[in-house]
Amino acid sequence: ARIVDPGGADDERHFEAALRPRRLADFAGQPRVRDQLGLVLEAARRRDAPPDHVLLSGPPGLGKTSLAMIIAAELEQPIRITSGPAIQHAGDLAAILSSLAEGEVLFLDEIHRMARPAEEMLYLAMEDFRVDVVVGKGPGATAIPLELPPFTVVGATTRAGLLPAPLRDRFGFTGHLDYYAPEDLARIVARSATLLEVETTRQGIEEIAGRSRGTPRIANRLLRRVRDYAQVHAEGIVDHQASRAALELFDVDERGLDRLDRGVLDALCRRFGGGPVGLTTLAVAVGEEPDTVETVAEPYLVREGYLIRTPRGRAASPMAWEHLGLTPPVASQG
Ligand code: ATP
Repeated sequence: ARIVDPGGADDERHFEAALRPRRLADFAGQPRVRDQLGLVLEAARRRDAPPDHVLLSGPPGLGKTSLAMIIAAELEQPIRITSGPAIQHAGDLAAILSSLAEGEVLFLDEIHRMARPAEEMLYLAMEDFRVDVVVGKGPGATAIPLELPPFTVVGATTRAGLLPAPLRDRFGFTGHLDYYAPEDLARIVARSATLLEVETTRQGIEEIAGRSRGTPRIANRLLRRVRDYAQVHAEGIVDHQASRAALELFDVDERGLDRLDRGVLDALCRRFGGGPVGLTTLAVAVGEEPDTVETVAEPYLVREGYLIRTPRGRAASPMAWEHLGLTPPVASQG
């Protein structure tokens, strides 16, 4: 697995759980979502009723699961956690819904991946706090309505655009999470270091934050590697030198690009004169599958403006040349 993968890995669950912010006040960054959500929750508390259903959208690793847990904690309610792919039949969802306690928070991760019949059951449950349990089969089947106590759905998705409109409309509040600014990531790293009882310097923290691709999950993972390095080579202190040396060792450069990212840019510039070149040709040049280049390396390179997708293929931007320390070819004059 790549050290800069924004997705979570099974072997880091325990570590992630230990670093999760517990309350809204501990959640760094995303000031807009934090303020909006704070208001929604405070109003619900004053009305002594569950808040509107909440949809959280945004790329992986930015804190959707953490926010769902924070919502439950702020409401002082239990939370039930499941995900779209785990609900393949309406019956799976009916079982969960019918066992919810009043006020409970139901967290549905990857909600865009739920099966269609379950989705329809969810609309009704979210709107009317009711499920129709179908008893029997064929012409004799009857739907028995089952009243549910009021509860709050928190849905999370990396692809809000894939949610059918009727489902999206059932959420009274949608929070869009965006990549974090370096100073917010620095706060997150500093907090994590405190929780892990690691001694740090300001510059050591900033070095990690700057290479974390705007993603807290990556920042925490890099901190873990720098901590190892510091333990062995720097008396346990995460300072500027330790952060730089450790992240160089793990192939994460100053802008958060790893070996694959740089390989793609390098092939584009040195072998194809900056492109445009077709995805398959580019992938062969770096010894990867086209799918890997497209889904693993490209999103960040495009987002940061190193790589441009054109109808004729992939092209390097001036930034890509500069990052590799190369001079872009001079455009031919007519
Ligand atoms: P995915 O959709 O891939 O599951 P996610 O968006 O749900 O990702 P989380 O699991 O909530 O992300 O967060 C990943 C890690 O980053 C956690 O360890 C969490 O502690 C940390 N984290 C995320 N956002 C913040 C934040 N704002 N402040 C502090 N830590 C954060």
